[in-house]
Amino acid sequence: MKAIGEKIEEARIEKILQALTLDEKIGMIHGAGLFRTEGVERLNIPPLKMSDGPRGVRQEFHNASWLPKGLSDDFVTYLPCNSAIACTWNRDLARKVGEVLGCEARGRGKDVILAPGINIQRSPLCGRGFEYMSEDPKLVEELAVPLIEGIQENDVAACVKHFAANSQETDRLKVDTLLDERTLREIYLPGFKAAVQKAHSYTLMGAYNRLRGEHCCHSKFLLDDILRKEWGYDGTVISDWGGVHNTKEAAETSLDIEMSVTSHFDDYYMADPLKKAVQSGEIKEEFLDQKIRNILRLMLRLHMLEPERDERKSGTYNTPEHREIALQAAREAIVLLKNEEQTLPLKKKVRKIAVIGQNANKLHANGGGSSEIKALYEISPLMGIKKLLGGNVEVCYGAGYDSGEIYNIEENFSWQAEGEEKSEGHISHGKKDRELKKDQLKKEYMEEAVQLAQEADEVIFIGGLNHEYDVEGGDRTSYHLPYGQDEVIETLLEVNPNMVVVMIAGSPVEMPWAGKAKAIVWSAYAGIEGGTALAEVLFGDTNPSGKLAQTIGIHLGDYPAHRMGEFGIKGQVTFREGIFVGYRYFDTYCITPQFAFGHGLSYTHFECSSMKCKVMEGKEDLQVQITVSIKNTGDREGAETLQLYVMDLEAPLIRPVHELKEFKKVFLQPGEETQVTFTLNKEAFGFYSEEESCFKVEPGLFELQLGTSSRDIRLTQKIDLKHHYAYK
Ligand code: BGC
Repeated sequence: MKAIGEKIEEARIEKILQALTLDEKIGMIHGAGLFRTEGVERLNIPPLKMSDGPRGVRQEFHNASWLPKGLSDDFVTYLPCNSAIACTWNRDLARKVGEVLGCEARGRGKDVILAPGINIQRSPLCGRGFEYMSEDPKLVEELAVPLIEGIQENDVAACVKHFAANSQETDRLKVDTLLDERTLREIYLPGFKAAVQKAHSYTLMGAYNRLRGEHCCHSKFLLDDILRKEWGYDGTVISDWGGVHNTKEAAETSLDIEMSVTSHFDDYYMADPLKKAVQSGEIKEEFLDQKIRNILRLMLRLHMLEPERDERKSGTYNTPEHREIALQAAREAIVLLKNEEQTLPLKKKVRKIAVIGQNANKLHANGGGSSEIKALYEISPLMGIKKLLGGNVEVCYGAGYDSGEIYNIEENFSWQAEGEEKSEGHISHGKKDRELKKDQLKKEYMEEAVQLAQEADEVIFIGGLNHEYDVEGGDRTSYHLPYGQDEVIETLLEVNPNMVVVMIAGSPVEMPWAGKAKAIVWSAYAGIEGGTALAEVLFGDTNPSGKLAQTIGIHLGDYPAHRMGEFGIKGQVTFREGIFVGYRYFDTYCITPQFAFGHGLSYTHFECSSMKCKVMEGKEDLQVQITVSIKNTGDREGAETLQLYVMDLEAPLIRPVHELKEFKKVFLQPGEETQVTFTLNKEAFGFYSEEESCFKVEPGLFELQLGTSSRDIRLTQKIDLKHHYAYK
């Protein structure tokens, strides 16, 4: 997997390896702190320092306890979460976000940043859905690759996670995931394959769950057969924290570093127990040597060793430039779901605006589990609105509903402090407290909200989820909005039918009032300047251009994982829906979604025309060139994301009605027209054949569909392929 232009001196690695004692090797392959390994001082080998995670660099913890150090120097730029980044559908922006993340990680002295999370969003209920990107493997791949490249430009390693098929939090340390080979290859692996082969992610994290019986962190199938042998990976494999369960298996598979959540570092499976097993001859030292080679190779890639150490990039954090990129990403991540009667953008010159709903006033950075961020600051939606409108407009806030304040209950408590089980207990303890307060407050909040809505010229409801629900270690148990928000929204829509509804959430939620609301805006946790970006969209300073990266279904039962498969159960979970994840299911089985994959409106309009295709078929490969014109027919600048779906009209086996194979975000001035060219190769047409253990393209008719969502196909062209192709 060598990166282009990379020269790794394998002979140098061998020389260092020969100089290491068994103890020193053992020190390098397991956590000697919660976020670091042991170095070898006499040989100038530094420890490997790691940090979470996808939304920025996490605060500093004590070496052997989950208590934060409480420093003043570890505040950082809080970046939009991955499910927000994915809604930008913008590769360049993903790269810039990666550059910020890598630069800040290096600035904080880290070697490995434990990001990005790229698991497939199989169910909207997955507690970590907000840390992942999309239900679609192509979109995941296209955004993860530049993001990883951006990180690694800074002499910091990305750690793409969690390999593989990590799609629920329930029973996460044990649950066994069962899925067929075709589903694995078509849906759950492509993102990781691209992360390894295209982005050259220097490290990769094994998942907590099992796959077909094997723990992913020491799965021979995933790590040896697929990752190392098939994909040629020579990077470093790190376990998830506490994902190792057996010394021999961990030692003899392609895992390189064991990390965990306890401070008994010498007791880790790859610490003293492994040393003893090597000394007794039960496990061959050669297995350790291979791990050391991979770790040293990583250190060379990162310029961590002498003499290159002085040349290593030094990074920085909290710069105005970083905040500007976080703001850009937030702007492009916001999705305008509905906008009847041009309800949005709202007018700025009014007397009184009511902003109702606790997400208007809530800060989200410091929650969610390991991706929690000690943000330098966080602009809430309420602050964003107030600072945009200034003092001449009266902005009145009403909570509307009670979401509790779990992160204030026990300040400085890290959910990881006492291991997995107890952290779940902590969360439910918070829930009980709130049950008591709930009834009193509910009535008060509702009355206040109704009054505010009656008095105001414009009403904005800002609700959704928070990190009590979008959280590591637990899945949501319901698709409904929590805290009785549906009732509040319905009531307020009766008071003011023009009320704008904003949903801030990491994963889809049920919206039974969607038919009544004229304007609905979607935003995942959008980072340090999230409130600024939201206010700009609401009042028209920014023209929204985000597109959904995950289908929003009407009912939970409409999601394939819930209708056909299993989700959120303990022990074993079978992905019975197979390849029919997300829109692949909704569109094939004609299930009307609330809002389709790829959907997102703008304040301007775009017209697509003149779609042309040119097919160039060779024996080995195939190229299909598609050109299309797109024009901004409205009166303000804006961006549209053209999405190219492929439909196999003569498939020899069951296939989704169409699959996303290319996309491009196009920025246009009013009246401007441009031509967009897409090139598809054979990979855009194949399916995985279990009989032949490879991808295949069969000759026949295909329809190329150009759309602005999976349900809004604007232009189509048929092509007739004559050749067979096969590829891995
Ligand atoms: C999470 C990882 C994270 C690690 C370190 C684990 O609980 O699953 O994603 O990187 O903790 O905090």
